Amino acid sequence: MSSKSFHPPQRTLMGPGPSDVNPRILEAMSRPTIGHLDPAFVGMMEEVKGLLQYAFQTKNDLTFPVSAPGSAGMETCFVNLVEPGDKVIVCRNGVFGGRMQENVERAGGEAIMVEDAWGAAVDPQKLEDALKANADAKLVAFVHAETSTGALSDAKTLVDVAHKHDCLTIVDAVTSLGGVPLKVDDWGVDAIYSGTQKCLSCVPGLSPVSFNAAAQEAIKARKTKVQSWFMDLNLVMGYWGGGAKRAYHHTAPINTLYALHESLVILSEEGLEAAWARHALHHQALRAGIEAMGLQFVVKEDERLPQLNAVTIPAGADDAAVRGRLLNEYNLEIGAGLGDLAGKVWRIGLMGHAANRTNVLFCLGALDSVLSEMGAEINAGKAVAAAQGVYGKGA
Ligand code: PLP
Repeated sequence: MSSKSFHPPQRTLMGPGPSDVNPRILEAMSRPTIGHLDPAFVGMMEEVKGLLQYAFQTKNDLTFPVSAPGSAGMETCFVNLVEPGDKVIVCRNGVFGGRMQENVERAGGEAIMVEDAWGAAVDPQKLEDALKANADAKLVAFVHAETSTGALSDAKTLVDVAHKHDCLTIVDAVTSLGGVPLKVDDWGVDAIYSGTQKCLSCVPGLSPVSFNAAAQEAIKARKTKVQSWFMDLNLVMGYWGGGAKRAYHHTAPINTLYALHESLVILSEEGLEAAWARHALHHQALRAGIEAMGLQFVVKEDERLPQLNAVTIPAGADDAAVRGRLLNEYNLEIGAGLGDLAGKVWRIGLMGHAANRTNVLFCLGALDSVLSEMGAEINAGKAVAAAQGVYGKGA
């Protein structure tokens, strides 16, 4: 077998993630690999922690990137905070709440599920009712930005409800970090995890996490050993902890951490508020185009994520064929529906670097052409102008 170097096609990534990576980040990744205990590298790690504190809006000292994708950040939170027999209230309004349930059960806990419809935000009243009915619950877990549906939940209110009942909180911010307001300290979030491949526009493979003092106390007070050696925070902090002498724990993904550092520098240059506003602007333009075409959003307006737009597939359009043509003829990736929404929606991402005017107009134009050619029931030829109208207003 004679294999050659792999050269991927040049795509525009407008699905649920990974998102388009800023070229500055790819360039940073290609810099020379140095040792993971090299003082120069350790200095960069300290900067990554500080930049992540800014992105999460927290002063938590225990803020660092887990060396693996978002799922590993999720698991780090659950294996450290859940002990066998613990009752955990898990809010599920899409795919990722289901994964939280799995995590609780695999850690030996009991998951009490609070169910909301796919496409709706988590209902704080249902959480309140579940906490009243389960006074012995220790933790509440929910997804801030549900990538499978595009629904944004009110994290501040949900955390308040959990605290009223003396529960700690685990929040999934994989898709929210950098794309919509997220204020870990102001909202009192106890444990949170995210991913690099969504609104940070970095390469996949790292999971920023942050734990406040209450979560750290709970971990210290565990009666049982964390069952995962790799994710046991007491051990990981020997490497990532502040001030302490750096000890070998695992070989850090050095060049991927250069990438995260660069992506966080880019975020701090733009400013968090400006990044949130940019996502909102391009969402409004995309929305104008989508609605002009006659497609509908799954999520109601005040619960919509700007960075993940779940839109209905019009009559006469073949889901897979449309996505295939966009990929093959336009090098454009949009996402399919997941779970309950499979075959019913497309998920159009506007994440990080990909949230820009060129992408919005390109995506609307390509979708309009493909759907018109297939004879789907849409208002053809209106989408791009509608989006341009939003930009024209300087909205
Ligand atoms: N949580 C949410 C809300 C996600 O969208 C994802 C990935 O899409 C994950 C968790 C898992 O992250 P990863 O695929 O990086 O492991």
